[in-house]
Amino acid sequence: MFSEFTPIEKLTTAAAQQEITHLQSQLTTYGIAYYEKDAPLIEDHDYDELYAHLVALEAEFPQFVTPDSPTQNVGGDSIKSELEKVVHPAPMLSLGDVFSLAELDEWDARTTKSLGFQSDYNLELKIDGLAVALTYVNGQLIQASTRGNGIIGEDVTRNVKTIKTIPQQLTEPITIEVRGEIYMPKTSFAKLNIQREADGLEPFANPRNAAAGSLRQLDAKITKARELAAFVYYTAEPEALGATTQSEALERFSILGLPTNSKNRVISRISDIADYIAEYTTKRDELAYGIDGVVVKVNQLDLQFDLGNTVKIPRWAIAYKFPPEEALTVVRDIEWTVGRTGAVTPTAIMDPVKLAGTTVQRASLHNPDYLNSKGIRIGDTVTLHKAGDIIPEIGQVILANRPSDSQKYDIPLKCPACDSELVHIEGEVALRCINPFCSAQIQEGLTHFASRNAMNIEGMGPRVIGQLLKSDLIKDVASIYHLNREQLLLLDKFKEKSVSNLLTSIDKSKSNSLERLLFGLGIRMIGAKAARLIAEKFKNIETIATATVEDIANIDGIGTTIAHSVVQYFDLPESKQLIQELSRANVNLKFLSEVVIDENSFFYNKKIVLTGKLEQSSRPVATKWLQDHGAIVAGSISAKTDLLIAGEDGGSKLRKANELGVMIWTEQQFVDAQAKEGIDK
Ligand code: NAD
Repeated sequence: MFSEFTPIEKLTTAAAQQEITHLQSQLTTYGIAYYEKDAPLIEDHDYDELYAHLVALEAEFPQFVTPDSPTQNVGGDSIKSELEKVVHPAPMLSLGDVFSLAELDEWDARTTKSLGFQSDYNLELKIDGLAVALTYVNGQLIQASTRGNGIIGEDVTRNVKTIKTIPQQLTEPITIEVRGEIYMPKTSFAKLNIQREADGLEPFANPRNAAAGSLRQLDAKITKARELAAFVYYTAEPEALGATTQSEALERFSILGLPTNSKNRVISRISDIADYIAEYTTKRDELAYGIDGVVVKVNQLDLQFDLGNTVKIPRWAIAYKFPPEEALTVVRDIEWTVGRTGAVTPTAIMDPVKLAGTTVQRASLHNPDYLNSKGIRIGDTVTLHKAGDIIPEIGQVILANRPSDSQKYDIPLKCPACDSELVHIEGEVALRCINPFCSAQIQEGLTHFASRNAMNIEGMGPRVIGQLLKSDLIKDVASIYHLNREQLLLLDKFKEKSVSNLLTSIDKSKSNSLERLLFGLGIRMIGAKAARLIAEKFKNIETIATATVEDIANIDGIGTTIAHSVVQYFDLPESKQLIQELSRANVNLKFLSEVVIDENSFFYNKKIVLTGKLEQSSRPVATKWLQDHGAIVAGSISAKTDLLIAGEDGGSKLRKANELGVMIWTEQQFVDAQAKEGIDK
């Protein structure tokens, strides 16, 4: 994008000074938006290109390097945030980066020259998150902090304690500060952005910004709701671990119960990295978390120490950044859709292109401000990439390819579904249709009500709901329960069998536990998890309907914004009437204590093995509890095992888990996690 820089050798000293000052100030502005506001103004690879140019200029004209240049400082000045501050015992550094194998060879040559011999390297995936430091005293987590400016970070202890994969207690009572990456899994990122758009909020640009925005919160409840996770990869005190290499340190972290990424590989020549890069370039899309490159680390820890650090980066490690996966395509149309909350969202419809393993034809343009900032016109050629490896996103318009007769795109003033005037609600970025009778909103609301995570009415998808609405057979969620056989037989492609099936699933949905109904009602800000927390606390809908904001906000995991939204909803006469109608139709309005497996549970879908003697429970009880929380309890350890819970005298399973680097918990850690789940469910 910025490749038209004047070649450095052609610059006069005065011109170089001017360009350096300009780049320093430009990159500082971008850094503030990225590190402090978690809302980047430009793409990462564009930032990287500007940064690399500044590095090259400063190397040629070192007299213009200032102490506040972005090349001399780690991160932004997030120490201005309202969170308490923490001084790091040893600076938290950034990483030098390279963008090609040739540059990596140069780094290897420099490192080999400094050491006097060729070192082994440990290759790790570069996790797209934000760095965190965790301090354990006698095995107990006492402090967590962000990197901040590298010297002073922000205290995020309360927030980090809500992250399920970070143990509060290590398996050994050691005192150590460890560092790693907090990230947001791709599925959580996608879910969060859908919810944010429905709530009229700006979506996060990528999982890294979403993770940072979620961690750097004054209210730990918000962090808790955001489903963050972590990998630990570093300690400045390897002697406390008894490790002599980076790969051993990772194994020791895992034994201590810390989450580690098991995809590391030790190589003895830098050229062996090519296979690793090729492997993870292909597998990247399948990983549950975003990665933006590979980190190469000198494996032997004493050699890391010998090589030392610059003010900003270690000399013993380097990040190889993946090239941006980008494609060019043409925007053919901009489609406006109305969501269930009335948010009207533009989507670009493009010529189909292959991108990171899938064919892409649509990309959300989120809201009018976003669309305007991109300046897209119909017929424009645009660059397309996947934000955080998953979500198709338009990068920029290639102005040189713009058709001469193209017109500026006008934002609609009327709802595409019901033609009523659209509004911009203060404090929101979304354009909204506020007509409560808007057909698109009603259709989306009913589809949500019947969906799998809500009332789970099988056979009642958007097409059937569309037909039912068109034939005036339903108007709101309560009317679903008045549908009869004769009416359904009138629908297109509906025969006796499909009608019976649909009536059975409608009937079955009447006995759902309250949280499904509460989620299905589509109350703003109420996701599946919040619905469950509220239903579990208040037990029935009447109590929820009469609860105050304070009562609701008292629930761990629920903030005041959500509480306000619930109270506002139940204050509406229409809502009161709807609940009465649902009650008359015999829809269950109570929380049922039977186990509903929570997909957000830490244990959900994890392969877990138990070994040794449990003191606080028995094997069958622990097994049942784990299964009720969605775990798959297995009898033997394999490379696929996610966790071993080891009681006294673990024996061969414990040894095997150690060998395979499987995460191991003590019984106490399991009991602590159970207590946490009890609150989380
Ligand atoms: P970085 O993200 O490029 O690399 C350093 C970080 O990598 C470490 O601090 C650590 O948090 C992380 N990391 C992930 N996995 C790791 C592993 N296995 N081992 C060690 N570290 C690992 O550097 P940075 O200083 O955090 O940020 C600079 C980058 O941020 C830029 O290259 C750019 O891509 C992006 N940025 C973008 C903008 C923008 O406006 N778009 C602005 C500023 C910075």
